[in-house]
Amino acid sequence: MRVTVDLDLCASTGGCAQTCPEVFEIGDDGYVHILREHPEADLHDQVRDAADLCPTAAIELIES
Ligand code: SF4
Repeated sequence: MRVTVDLDLCASTGGCAQTCPEVFEIGDDGYVHILREHPEADLHDQVRDAADLCPTAAIELIES
């Protein structure tokens, strides 16, 4: 799995960082940062939850 965020869509709500802090973080700059672009398999369900819950559908997952 590869994780990307469209920063043009992201509203910096921080929801993804709450749902899956191992992968998403809101930086001091106020933007979301991806800590693991290729998260380990045991994080995939959490990453999918974060993507489903994102209010602006900014998180794109490329499943492989
Ligand atoms: S949940 Fe979506 S809108 Fe909120 S910080 Fe994460 S990517 Fe951005």
